[in-house]
Amino acid sequence: MITTRPRGTADVLPGDAAGWRFVEDAFRRICREYNYGEIRTPVFEHTELFERGVGDTTDIVEKEMYTFRDKGDRSITLRPEGTAPVVRAYLENGLNAGPQPVKLYYTGPMFRYDRPQAGRYRQFHQLGAEVLGSNDPAVDAEIIAMVMDFYGRLGIAGLDLHINSVGCPRCRAELRLKLQDFFRPVQDKLCVNCRGRLAKNPLRVLDCKEERCGALSGGAPTTLDCLCPDCEAHFSRVKGCLDGLGIPYIVNGRLVRGLDYYTNTAFEVMAPDIGAQSSIGGGGRYNGLVEALGGPSTPGVGYALGVERIILAMERQGAPVPSRIRPDVFVAAADPSGEEKALGILFALRSEGLSADKDYLGRSLKAQMKLAGRAGCRLVVILGGDELKRGSAAVRDMAGGSQVELPLEALPREVRKLIGR
Ligand code: AMP
Repeated sequence: MITTRPRGTADVLPGDAAGWRFVEDAFRRICREYNYGEIRTPVFEHTELFERGVGDTTDIVEKEMYTFRDKGDRSITLRPEGTAPVVRAYLENGLNAGPQPVKLYYTGPMFRYDRPQAGRYRQFHQLGAEVLGSNDPAVDAEIIAMVMDFYGRLGIAGLDLHINSVGCPRCRAELRLKLQDFFRPVQDKLCVNCRGRLAKNPLRVLDCKEERCGALSGGAPTTLDCLCPDCEAHFSRVKGCLDGLGIPYIVNGRLVRGLDYYTNTAFEVMAPDIGAQSSIGGGGRYNGLVEALGGPSTPGVGYALGVERIILAMERQGAPVPSRIRPDVFVAAADPSGEEKALGILFALRSEGLSADKDYLGRSLKAQMKLAGRAGCRLVVILGGDELKRGSAAVRDMAGGSQVELPLEALPREVRKLIGR
């Protein structure tokens, strides 16, 4: 018997699924309010999409992708993130030819081969949104505001919003040189990875998690030291919009994120009480991505939030997370002769929009009542011999213990009223 799941994956059982559904429903609601349309892209794509769209000097592409050859000898990758696929779909389906900007949201599993730990999985789930076709800083602000609004609605408080501008390719070229100059005298003291990064992508030294690299980059120039006037103005407008909306933030010049296509705004939201993996969401602008994937130069901005970490933050903070979905009604038959009647009533209750269930193991009436109580049913319809002869059934309120007798033909409707629907 195979009884273990692959490392870094999780089963979401019905008790936990209620919390997941709650978070996903809240996300769909907010996306509707902010006028984002849903997009569903495949779980796997051509490997090249991520090599080009995420960047081949990033951890994701260098070591974390689930890549395999399919039976047709194509290189396929389980998606490690949602932005490159959304941009691919935007181009492939001609959404760039319609009215801009195009506002899209997605939900679903992502796959990264990383060392699993609390809050870090190999299959995890993201909620994300992207806006393609506008460079307006107000869109960056809308994206950030939407994320903070969403966390607020879920009852998550005490979050730190870090924002930065990583500039445009011109600003980055200047920063690259400055960083190479800065680190050259101490390059032997950097970690092995960063020594390699120094030549290819020195920005990434700034977000290296190794302690010694962190210490060495103490006084290093940051992206904010190299912003050109246009990028400076863009960042000021983003901050101005956030100020206007009353959203507090921390400007963090070291926030560069691992992805190559980011330009201008970058942001990350930290939940201090969920442990080492404290980032519960992040995003930014990626004006270089559409072109990198072969499309016309098109600005874009978006975010991705981790569902597992959101739920962890809600639990840690005692925010209400629904733990299970209770059936409204249980239909109990006092003896086997009532079985068929019970089935009929069960289906009639369901067609009234109620959640209803019955026993399927031939339990005694006492055991059926116990089962109904354990499932958290509000009412139990009891089909007893005497009542059935009168063409009626008893309905018991499980909380108060009171009982009424109702004629069978009116029962589903009356039960719906008792439940309050
Ligand atoms: P990223 O796409 O790396 O910017 O990640 C966006 C969000 O996804 C993070 O803030 C996390 O909440 C979540 N996330 C990223 N990687 C993982 C992972 N391996 N396990 C669980 N959640 C993750």
